[in-house]
Amino acid sequence: MPLLFAASVLPDVDLLLRFLMHRGPTHSIITISVLMIPFFVVYRKKAIPYYAALLSHILIGDFFTGGVQLFWPLSKGWFGATNFTVQSLPIVITEFALFAITLPIMYKLGDLQTLFKPHNYNWALIIPLGAILGPLLSLGRGQENALPILLVIPSLFYIGIFSYSMWVELRAWLKKEKGKPFAKSYSQSDILSFSTSDG
Ligand SMILES: [Zn+2]
Repeated sequence: MPLLFAASVLPDVDLLLRFLMHRGPTHSIITISVLMIPFFVVYRKKAIPYYAALLSHILIGDFFTGGVQLFWPLSKGWFGATNFTVQSLPIVITEFALFAITLPIMYKLGDLQTLFKPHNYNWALIIPLGAILGPLLSLGRGQENALPILLVIPSLFYIGIFSYSMWVELRAWLKKEKGKPFAKSYSQSDILSFSTSDG
């Protein structure tokens, strides 16, 4: 689950890479499909949710809120469903509704609960956390991309969840570190089984 959150905001790395236009090449179905091929070869069916998460960012997220270079490099044209900007009321209301719908679904599927269990993957939440903090503080974006007030609520909510999830993992890790000096008295095979059993 944390990795899915991370995947769904990954195309926006272009905000950090100055030489790439935002919503350009990293928001192309073709780029993403090509980059996903090795993952499909290695992980097969397991890669599908990540592919879906990436596509939903482009097709649901950005396609409806302006436009993306959907078929780069075949076409440099920008494709979008509407001329709405991120701040226009219909978009804000839709995003808020999506938030309200996703939350009980995530709870029901147990996804929300898994975020609160210690796991290495929780660190992946640093990516969506940054993606949320960015617009919230309108970092790296112009004033015209600042976050609408209504969406501050879901943003704060996710910041809370993501931070807590990483805190849970940090606490578990600190606990494990504290117990480490004892490991010296273990035999090599004990340490090996210790380190493989906690993954
Ligand atoms: Zn984007």
